[in-house]
Amino acid sequence: MVFPVCGPVAWSDTFLASRGGARQHQGQDIMAPKMRELVAAFDGVVTLHRPRGPGGHYWLVLTGDNGWTATYLHLNNDTPGTDDGLGGDQSAFAPGIETGVRVRAGVLLGWVGDSGNAEDTAPHLHFELAPTATRVSVNPAPYLEAAEHLEAPRGMAPPVQDPAPIPSG
Ligand SMILES: [Zn+2]
Repeated sequence: MVFPVCGPVAWSDTFLASRGGARQHQGQDIMAPKMRELVAAFDGVVTLHRPRGPGGHYWLVLTGDNGWTATYLHLNNDTPGTDDGLGGDQSAFAPGIETGVRVRAGVLLGWVGDSGNAEDTAPHLHFELAPTATRVSVNPAPYLEAAEHLEAPRGMAPPVQDPAPIPSG
């Protein structure tokens, strides 16, 4: 697996930590500054989740060819350098990243932020890992510890191709 955040990060094992009431933490929080690069943990297909309005939660799911699903929460929703909640798609998801796009491990997916219920915390990636068949989250810690940690993304998703023009006449 490729570590989902490039460059220096901080995290400690908080899987199943109490999050108030009966809620337990279903992933790991990887702390990094806003706009740090998020990359694909493995080869697979992405599904994007956008908020209904400005300032909402941007997140994505990577369904891997390896039978695992990774979920990335709290992508950036701010204009870079601000906390305005007005960043829009282009400040959350990398160019070429759209629902249904196939990516290789290490390709740039988007950027760290504080969207969703992380608005009042330090920016971080909440990362979940589950077998695609069961969707029951496992502790990502041993996989993160064993992952290859990149300083920079391996590349971008292939550019979206405009449909070929319809010949006239
Ligand atoms: Zn979390």
